[in-house]
Amino acid sequence: MMNNFPASLRADRFSQPSLLAPLPTRCPYCPATTCYHWIRNASYGRYGLDSERIRIPRWLCKITKRTFSLLPDALLPYHSTTTTRILQWLNHTFVNGHGMATTAKFFSAARTTVRRVCAKFYQAVKVLRLSGQAGVLPPAEFLRRLFSNSGSQVATLFVAWKEREPKHSLV
Ligand SMILES: [Zn+2]
Repeated sequence: MMNNFPASLRADRFSQPSLLAPLPTRCPYCPATTCYHWIRNASYGRYGLDSERIRIPRWLCKITKRTFSLLPDALLPYHSTTTTRILQWLNHTFVNGHGMATTAKFFSAARTTVRRVCAKFYQAVKVLRLSGQAGVLPPAEFLRRLFSNSGSQVATLFVAWKEREPKHSLV
């Protein structure tokens, strides 16, 4: 029961979510042009899929002495729900136009969780930019454009957002 969930995200890596943390291509604290200057700095544990605990590598910026990490595609920061599930909720609510309570019921999710995720996305969408996007897009239009990318392009976008600003996320 995917309910018009975009084929691009059903087909590839979001449906077979990777729990491998991506390697950083830049440091979120320094200009994009600064060459590779971060080192592995231990790791931390968090719950992954199905309450399984996984290790996420932490990286230390040698210039600012601050740490950062990049989550696997399947997970988003500060959420215990999978990326795929969160994208399904957002699609159901904003693109298909269902109320948040209806979305929660449809996916057998807690109403407060769906409401919190939708509210966070509503705020985040004002600062997130897709490639080629100039101004702010309404949530439904933003998601439609996001979903026109392949799953791996979406995963790359998530990493890019996180690398630019450590607290930047879809939700
Ligand atoms: Zn740095």
